[in-house]
This record gives sequence, structure tokens and C-alpha cells, in this order.
Amino acid sequence: MGYLVDPKETIEILNKYRFVFQKRFGQNFLIDVHVLEKILRAADINKDDFVVEIGPGIGTMTQFLCENAREVVAVEIDKNLIPILEEDTLKGYDNLTIINEDILKLDLNKLVEERNGGKKIKVVANLPYYITTPIIMQLFEEHIPIENITVMVQQEVAERMQSGPGTKDYGALSLAVQYYAQPYIAAYVPQNCFMPRPNVSSAVIRLTLHEEKPVRVKDDRLMFSLIRASFNHRRKTLVNGLSADMGKFYTKDRILEALKKCGFKETVRGEELTLQQFAELSEAL
Ligand code: SAM
Repeated sequence: MGYLVDPKETIEILNKYRFVFQKRFGQNFLIDVHVLEKILRAADINKDDFVVEIGPGIGTMTQFLCENAREVVAVEIDKNLIPILEEDTLKGYDNLTIINEDILKLDLNKLVEERNGGKKIKVVANLPYYITTPIIMQLFEEHIPIENITVMVQQEVAERMQSGPGTKDYGALSLAVQYYAQPYIAAYVPQNCFMPRPNVSSAVIRLTLHEEKPVRVKDDRLMFSLIRASFNHRRKTLVNGLSADMGKFYTKDRILEALKKCGFKETVRGEELTLQQFAELSEAL
């Protein structure tokens, strides 16, 4: 068969299997070859790579991954897609394993240990928008050996991941992503590149994991609690935001003292602080 990325082939497969799109799984399949090529280029996929694809759908991107990588593991939650992948679109690739599982329930560390000797993998995904953040945060927080994560996400989310202090998009997600990785938006993708068309525009973002964290903190959970508390109350000054959420642990005076120690004004707002400054505040507290 030809490549699925040709919309005619996609429609043929969907009809053949009487496939019904599941809204709850965020199914929008890619039908644009240029976008696929951009994803492969951004992820820098080559014959040395062990790639995990999250949500292969009918296998459009998986075909390209199998041809360009050493080994591919595709993790798909929807059991109705498995026969399409196994018997049809991905039949014949001997460097591919298909796993019918929810990525959030899969022990990826174990998989990487068993299948790739614990060496770094690459992750590629066109993610369902409603679980983008939990999936990415899980990949980071479970310390899976990953070189880069190249994902299609809602454009707005990609911009939030990449933005810095003083911009309207800057927030807890920006800081969490930038603590673990270096973000780079590789492409903007309009709605007509998918079937069915989503309601929002998308972007491909590559997150290259840091070899070493850009800031040093004794307790990164405390730093992220401070970050969340300050962005939960964007309109408040930092001291009032932190007092509102963390008053149980720190008195207002103690927070003011820590701000002073870091050289911040009493009126400073969380959105003005860089990751380095949140790290300093966390150490001061
Ligand atoms: N990669 C395909 C493409 O680009 O055409 C499909 C992308 S579609 C936006 C998202 C895919 O992720 C769907 O196939 C959906 O069933 C799958 N999916 C949704 N939630 C998932 C989860 N928790 N674990 C694994 N796959 C999931």
C-alpha cells in the first residue's frame, strides 16, 4: 500500500475497518506529508534511534518512524486501532512493537531498561490535547532516559512552554518544562492538516532534555509548590499569593524576609521571576 499520509489512503483504511473516531481519545489523524517530515527532522530520527511513539492512530507517522529509526515501540490506547495497525498499515515492519495500553499506565522505565539497555530513547507523539501536560510531566518526573520529546500540541500550549518572564503566556507550565528541557517550536500546523479537523491550531515542539538541570535546588517539589502558588494568584503580589496557598507552612513575615534575602521588592509578582529566581527563593525559604 501507499503511505497513509495521502488522505485517500486514510479514508480507504477508515472505511475498510468501519472505524469510528473516538472523541474521548482525541483522535485527529495527520494527513500532511510536510508536517510528518518536519516532525522527523525536528526529532532528528536516525538508524541508531529507539523511538517510542505515543498514540500511533492508524500508523501514519509510525510508517515513517519504522523506516528511519532502528527500533519503534508504538503505544495506542484504542483497541479498535490495533487490528488496523497489525494486519494492515504496519504489517511487515520487523523493527516495530505495538502495545495496546494507556501511556500513563505503562512502565516506560522498565521498557527502556529491557528493550534498550536503559539507554536514551526519543519520544514522538501527536498528542490528544486534553492529556498533553500530564503525559509530558510524567515523562519528565519519572526520569525516563530520554534524549528528546517531539510532540504536536495545541499551538497555545507550545507557546506557553516556550515563553519567558513578563509575557502573558508565561506560567507554571513554562517553568516546569524549562526546568527539565530546552523547548523549540519546529512548526506551526493549521487545522486542515488533520482528519477530522480539530477546533484549534497546533504546533510541533521539540523538548531536548537537559544533561544537567539549569538550576540547583535541594527540594524541587518546594520550588514547584512556590511556582504553582504564585501563578494560582497571578493578580496578587508574590507575597500575597504565597501566603494564600502556603500560609500553613510559612508566615507572611518569613516570606517577606526570604524575598528581601533574594533582593526582590515587596511588591514583586511571580510572573516577573525567572526559573533561577524561583530556585533562589526556594533555597531562601
Ligand atoms: N499519531 C496519529 C497521527 O498523527 O495521525 C494519531 C494522533 S491522534 C491526535 C492521538 C492518538 O493517541 C489517537 O490514536 C488516540 O487513540 C491515542 N491516545 C489517546 N490517549 C492515549 C493514551 N492515554 N495512551 C496512548 N494512546 C492514546
